[in-house]
Amino acid sequence: MSNIDYQFDREHIWHPYTSLTNPLPVYGVSSAKGCEILLDNGQVLVDGMSSWWAAMHGYNHPVINQAMKDQIDKMSHIMFGGLTHEPAIELCKKLVNITPISLDKVFLSDSGSVAVEVAMKMAVQYWHSQGLNQKVKIVSPRNGYHGDTFAAMSVCDPITGMHSLFQDAMQQQLFVTKPAPSINDEWHHEAINHLEFTLKQNHQTIAALILEPIVQGTGGMNFYHPNYLKQARILCDQYNVLLIADEIATGFGRTGKLFACEWADIAPDIMCLGKTLTGGNLTLAATLTTQKIANGICDGAAGVFMHGPTYMGNPLACAAANASIDLLLNDDWQANINRISEQLSQQLLPLSRHEKVKDVRILGAIGVVELHEAVNAAEIQAFFVAKGVWIRPFGKLVYLMPPYIITNQQIKTLCEAINAYL
Ligand SMILES: *Cc1c(COP(=O)(O)O)cnc(C)c1O
Repeated sequence: MSNIDYQFDREHIWHPYTSLTNPLPVYGVSSAKGCEILLDNGQVLVDGMSSWWAAMHGYNHPVINQAMKDQIDKMSHIMFGGLTHEPAIELCKKLVNITPISLDKVFLSDSGSVAVEVAMKMAVQYWHSQGLNQKVKIVSPRNGYHGDTFAAMSVCDPITGMHSLFQDAMQQQLFVTKPAPSINDEWHHEAINHLEFTLKQNHQTIAALILEPIVQGTGGMNFYHPNYLKQARILCDQYNVLLIADEIATGFGRTGKLFACEWADIAPDIMCLGKTLTGGNLTLAATLTTQKIANGICDGAAGVFMHGPTYMGNPLACAAANASIDLLLNDDWQANINRISEQLSQQLLPLSRHEKVKDVRILGAIGVVELHEAVNAAEIQAFFVAKGVWIRPFGKLVYLMPPYIITNQQIKTLCEAINAYL
């Protein structure tokens, strides 16, 4: 029998991006293990979402669980002001080691949106310290997504980010055309024209360019050409604009590289990490930057970086992150991502011939089926659950980003469910 009080949930609890007065149905979960979600009614679903890019090793992983249990018996949390601890130091060493070599200063925070806020504050504070107080604007490409807090929202795509609603309450930023061409198409230099023009015209007021390297996620699952990123790096240097790479969704192997910046062989000035940083076990994020930016900020008038979340460096989250990163790096993760990529390609690419399908694209462990028409969210959700899979489309996009531990058979189950829906 169900213990879940669905009526209370419906009447009192907000879920992501939903109405409280007219909510879509939700499904009660009693547990999750590996690549499977056990519903309250006894049904088992194959997970195609990794809980929004987070659970790269699946759920309930014994090694990560053990690391968290060990840490709980020492301390779950301790303030980071004036104190430090082994789990945070170990994590920051790892992050400094695996990210581009110039990124060696780490700011820990509690969620991706906060990591983006921190990155934007770092950029503005850096230029302030250089006496360039007018450099406060952030440029971002259309189609992007960087989080839901006010500053993060100000650099999200103006349409999908619902800027019209918050226009007067929000800082106005600058936008450039969506990054193009697609990663599989031939590079053409015009793709960078709008960015070049915008930086040329406005660089005196621009602190940074923020973008999601190679894969624009929530803003529309756009896989764009590495040369765009290469050129963006060159232009930022040319016009004295910092480059912020938001790797919150792309980090830790998802695109087939450990970090998506590696597709273009570039290093940003500031990098944001989150989502699967803890393997999807606890909320934690990090903003990394260079010695140059850190020195600038700290040699400036303020002398300090003005940010400090209460749960900064949470030891339990750091312990989960340390175990998760070790699991990833101790495995031949690249071969595994290639395996998932091949399976997704085999199963999904044939769907591109279907009349309802506009495009199918695969990169790393991400598979996207773009439809001509937006789906009916409640209807498609019920259909997939009935098929025994957890796939959560948005708009015209039906997409998969499964845990890396997914089996070929489970990938097949996910893809067959999509095929059955069409
Ligand atoms: C999810 C996401 C964020 C926001 O992270 P939260 O932890 O949800 O605040 C920011 N940037 C990108 C690219 C994301 O995918």
